[in-house]
Amino acid sequence: MVVTLSQQNQLWNTILSIVKDRISDRHVFDSFLADSKVHKIDGNKIIVIVNSALAASLLKTNARYNNIIKDAIKIATESDYELELITSDEIKNVAEKPQTQKHQFFAHSVLNPKYTFDNFVVGDCNREAVQAALLVTAAPGGSFNPNPLFIYSKSGLGKTHLLHAIGNYTKEKNPYSKVLYINTDTFIDEFIRYVRGDQESESLKDFFQTIDVLLVDDIQFLSDKNKTSEMFFHIFNTLINAGKQIVLTSDRHPNDLKGLEERLVSRFNMGLSVNIVNPDTTTLIEILKTKISSNGLSVADFDADGLAFLAENFNKNIRELEGALNRLIFYAINIKNNDRITLDIVKASVQPIIGSKKSNKVVTEDRIIETVADYYHLTEQQIKSKFRTSQIALARHISMYLCRQLCGTPFIKLGNIFGGRDHSTVMSAVEKVSINLKTDTQLATAINEIQKQLKS
Ligand code: ADP
Ligand code: MG
Repeated sequence: MVVTLSQQNQLWNTILSIVKDRISDRHVFDSFLADSKVHKIDGNKIIVIVNSALAASLLKTNARYNNIIKDAIKIATESDYELELITSDEIKNVAEKPQTQKHQFFAHSVLNPKYTFDNFVVGDCNREAVQAALLVTAAPGGSFNPNPLFIYSKSGLGKTHLLHAIGNYTKEKNPYSKVLYINTDTFIDEFIRYVRGDQESESLKDFFQTIDVLLVDDIQFLSDKNKTSEMFFHIFNTLINAGKQIVLTSDRHPNDLKGLEERLVSRFNMGLSVNIVNPDTTTLIEILKTKISSNGLSVADFDADGLAFLAENFNKNIRELEGALNRLIFYAINIKNNDRITLDIVKASVQPIIGSKKSNKVVTEDRIIETVADYYHLTEQQIKSKFRTSQIALARHISMYLCRQLCGTPFIKLGNIFGGRDHSTVMSAVEKVSINLKTDTQLATAINEIQKQLKS
């Protein structure tokens, strides 16, 4: 949200009225502060113009006045702004002096105003995530709040939308709070590009000190980025210790983040982790209706069975559902030129996409590994690797078992696929799965579900 000049002036007037009440000597106030004005609010700094060099120097050096002003700023902004007092002559000097070029961090990271709580549909799949998001927005960094809040899910289920919603709502309630939304990729990029030595490193830390609410998307990208992780660890601790709010998202639970230092994972676990799961059909239809309305169209023009068809065929990723809806709208308007959007129109518009999804139907070793990886929120590399954590080993054994069952892959070939293991290791893993399957209902459900996905 842009803070306009008139908002800045209004804020300064509020601050002045608090100061006036607290400075016991009315003449001091009238002579030094009454006609002061905001020059600008620059990041973490409020720059104020006072009427003389003496006023600037007195208000800066006199601890009592200085504290009164700082307290008033804190009350009015609910933030720790730094105060800079200057005279109008100094502004001219600053304007004339060429500024030394300092890198402005995350200049392009902005909140997307389109992602709000109002247009986020709540269902069983995401209720806890929304509740937690609202909780942190009600009092960012509050001592009873989960901090960090860690939201995780597969792709396309609304994590980024929720992060922006938190940011937008926070700014709406308090335009002066400093909210930063960044994707982890951007963080890594800025760090690698601009932080070469101690000086830049300090400026980056200083920059983060000014943030009240930090929203970091896709934290799984920090995996194996040791230097960047170290910097992130530092920033994370500083903000949490200062009572600032952090919200993170990831494609998996903190404990399943590989290639990340234990100390970082344990920090992520300090707050609350909430999961968003695949939405049910009712929620998906509700999402479709919201998107239709936000496109300026009338839901009444869409037949219910058409919407249900879309929801049932695009139920794993809301981004894909939106893509299908856009395609449908384009098709209905430009090709069919039809007022009513019937089931037939829906089918015709999305058939090519569904067709291409179905053409994947042949079950291959690669598809099995991909599906199992997806099911357990792992990467295919992890499944094929030599890692032995129990979660990865389980996913690997299930993959081997399914390759045997569905593709009849020879044990020697399986050994090669899964990180060069010898065939007897593979044989005993497959055997173990078949035996456990008879008694372990959780395993049976998982294998059933994966098989269903492979056939769908
Ligand atoms: P992720 O970050 O989890 O990959 P996004 O937040 O980018 O997912 O969501 C993908 C798309 O789906 C976005 O356009 C978003 O607005 C939409 N979306 C996801 N969940 C919902 C929801 N519950 N209600 C409305 N739109 C949603
Ligand atoms: Mg995202």
